[in-house]
Amino acid sequence: MSSGTKAVVRTYQNYVGGKWVDGSAGETFPVYDPSTEEVIAQVASATAADVDSAVKTARAAFDSGPWATTTAQERGRILYKFAEKIRQNAAHLAEIECRNSGKPIVEAEYDIADAATCFEYYAGMANKVLGHVNPVPANALSFTMREPVGVAGQIVPWNYPLVMASWKLAPALAAGCACVLKPAEQTPLTAMEVASWFEECGVPPGVVNIINGPGETTGAALVAHPGVDKIAFTGSAAVGKIIVKSAADTLKRVTLELGGKSPNIFFADADWEASVDGALFGVFINQGEVCSAGSRILVEKKIYSKFVEAMTEKAKRIKLGPPLERETKMGPLVSKEQHDRVSSYLALGKKEAKVAIGGGRPTAFGKGYYVEPTIFYDVDNNARISREEIFGPVASVIPFDGEPDAIRIANDSPYGLAAAVWTRDIYKAFRVVKSLRAGIIWVNHMQPTYVEAPWGGYKQSGFGRELGPSGIEEYLETKQVFVNLDEAPIGWY
Ligand code: ADP
Repeated sequence: MSSGTKAVVRTYQNYVGGKWVDGSAGETFPVYDPSTEEVIAQVASATAADVDSAVKTARAAFDSGPWATTTAQERGRILYKFAEKIRQNAAHLAEIECRNSGKPIVEAEYDIADAATCFEYYAGMANKVLGHVNPVPANALSFTMREPVGVAGQIVPWNYPLVMASWKLAPALAAGCACVLKPAEQTPLTAMEVASWFEECGVPPGVVNIINGPGETTGAALVAHPGVDKIAFTGSAAVGKIIVKSAADTLKRVTLELGGKSPNIFFADADWEASVDGALFGVFINQGEVCSAGSRILVEKKIYSKFVEAMTEKAKRIKLGPPLERETKMGPLVSKEQHDRVSSYLALGKKEAKVAIGGGRPTAFGKGYYVEPTIFYDVDNNARISREEIFGPVASVIPFDGEPDAIRIANDSPYGLAAAVWTRDIYKAFRVVKSLRAGIIWVNHMQPTYVEAPWGGYKQSGFGRELGPSGIEEYLETKQVFVNLDEAPIGWY
């Protein structure tokens, strides 16, 4: 690592070709603790020339390095070792994640464990990638081979920093790709902490490169680079659209996991306590900085008023506080920019709907980008706070009248990442599941996410799937091979 641990503000370099390197312009950018608003690290900023160097390094590692001849079984072993290294250092990584992102420490601990689990899952999958024999009507043997897509450019957001990096690196490495990862500029620290561990565990130098910098320059240079075969992106729909346009010039493969405005639907017959709890958990976990946040809470008219009241009462008990304190259930938002953005939606929401609770900055803290858990009710589904992703602890509660109305409102959104439905009626539950246009549906729960099951959205929530067996598919090409078994000439001419 680039600097001693004694300094309060640590400097992190980029990691390219197995070496720590400064940005070629010699510039760094500050990284903050959003609960104190203080700078906790400086990180080297990668210029377009640095991106070029990282991509060429990855290219060389993929095209002619030893990674190509490493067996799938060996890749799996290496990834298991890496997962183990994360587990051994879990407390350290969780503390860094917590301080850098503002998420409560208990959630950060879950995240680090999830990152390790993701590497374990794809470690096991490395040698289970199979081809097929194709029954062609010829005296021939036709088969398909699955091969790594090549160099993957991976761009991740700030809400689940190490988890998002692992969702991308683990399947890519299991498939045999080389990677250039760009963490979010707000939260690069855990990725930089683990960067050199890949080689320690046996990944050849140049196979994993991690570079930092602003999305509009560093990220854009990675997307545009002709040496990159595939871009995997998680972030906003607005940036997703920019990425697709840029990637079109070189016809890169692209997978996108974008935003959402996910409906969390409560029927009158659902379990009451579980529902109230699930409505709050669905939208307020991780300060609401969750792409699948259940930010549109659809409640059947019969229970609507009582439900808003019960949610409000329970929301009063949500413990906001410094993220490192174990009782904290909600920390600050990640950055000043995000706080400003969410605050502008709070102002808008007060014009568009009624406030049940929250709506501003809590007075208890002198510093930190805190926002009160906020519940707007009597919200129209056409209101901007119902249509636009806020990415903060802001719920829009919308009444509905019966099943068709619930389905209509739920699907009336440009997004289709996730949805949840709460009812005791199994017929109704499955009818609704079938009717919802979203990539992830929960019944009588919201948010549980497991590496074994695919993750991704419909509509403007993106395309491609991460996690599960689909996650590795996105890093594989299919090669079709025809072997002629007939020694006679073709005899056409
Ligand atoms: P948010 O608005 O939540 O910060 P973004 O979609 O802007 O989400 O950012 C997600 C990731 O995309 C970050 O790593 C960011 O640096 C990167 N990014 C932002 N703009 C671009 C761009 N034009 N090209 C490539 N990457 C970008």
